[in-house]
Amino acid sequence: MNTEKVVVIGSGPAGLTACIYAARANLNPLCFEGFNAGGLIPGGQLMFTTEVENYPGFPEGVTGPQMMKAFRDQADRFGTRFIRDDVSAVDFSRRPFIVKSPDESVEAHAVIIATGARANWLNLENEQRLAKIGGGVSACAVCDGAMPMYRDQELVVIGGGDSAIEEGVYLTKFAKKVYLIHRRDQLRAGKAMQERFFKHVEQGRMEPVWNSIVIDVLGDQSITGVRLKNVKTNEQRDLLCQGMFLAISHTPNTELFKDYLATDEKGYLKLARLGSTYTAVEGVFAAGDVADHVYRQAVTAAGSGCIAALDAERWLAERGIE
Ligand code: NDP
Repeated sequence: MNTEKVVVIGSGPAGLTACIYAARANLNPLCFEGFNAGGLIPGGQLMFTTEVENYPGFPEGVTGPQMMKAFRDQADRFGTRFIRDDVSAVDFSRRPFIVKSPDESVEAHAVIIATGARANWLNLENEQRLAKIGGGVSACAVCDGAMPMYRDQELVVIGGGDSAIEEGVYLTKFAKKVYLIHRRDQLRAGKAMQERFFKHVEQGRMEPVWNSIVIDVLGDQSITGVRLKNVKTNEQRDLLCQGMFLAISHTPNTELFKDYLATDEKGYLKLARLGSTYTAVEGVFAAGDVADHVYRQAVTAAGSGCIAALDAERWLAERGIE
């Protein structure tokens, strides 16, 4: 079995930035870029995004897949080796650690976990189909909301947390009206966010639809409406809309590590040192959305991937591995 200096698990902005930095530090990183774990593909969540307009350095915008190809090319250029496979098991109880995929098994002195998080969906058949064909169903308003197809349209956001409000308020910049569909009659969002919401409701730019769940998504090539069920009365009705945005939380991809690393109450990996990427297992670092439920941006993930590679480099150097 080969013993690697650094293995990076994941190939979103965090994982690939870690690869770029580790490769340039002569650590010869090996990256398990994934195949389809958690419904993600190599490149991570950005592969499901169309235009990225908030990543610095791209004044004209860039598509998510183009951006991730550029990240990967850059990591490749400095010598990152890639395995297009999902990691199926890790062993952090021995040193060097072991990282396994169905076809490969390697030892690693240091591991950088950058497995990300996946958006939660309602998992309705037409929701999934329309999301795949760019038919106006998305789990990221900040990524997709500014697209021309949503301008001056009536849109729905599902959820009652901070994300739902933040994304709904963001959408009001473009939309004619944004309906917030929530399964209860009280928001989970914090006080300040609730105040923002009710201000927009007063202005007629947002409208709550309480005690309601979406039981079907309507439309063939693009969404035309949602079928709602009132959970108190069981009454059903169709609400016409031209876009639907899910904001019902994310699930971090931490299943593989549950025997070794603690998670917070939302399932995100806990970091051992504030402002670093150290986990409680020395030599294992975590970067990007897998350990961040608050910011979840490509640029913040990339930044923490850089920190993880620097942390790993220093940690290895202290042990004479260079
Ligand atoms: P949350 O878990 O806080 O909220 C998820 C919301 O989705 C809840 O209202 C929940 O309903 C609803 N929901 C969950 N599952 C379903 C379902 N299957 N069908 C319908 N509704 C569902 O997630 P967020 O993404 O909103 O926030 C995550 C974290 O990030 C929080 O800690 C939040 O504070 C933070 N955040 C902070 C921001 C800021 O401060 N600027 C911005 C965005 C996020 P119910 O309430 O009934 O459980």
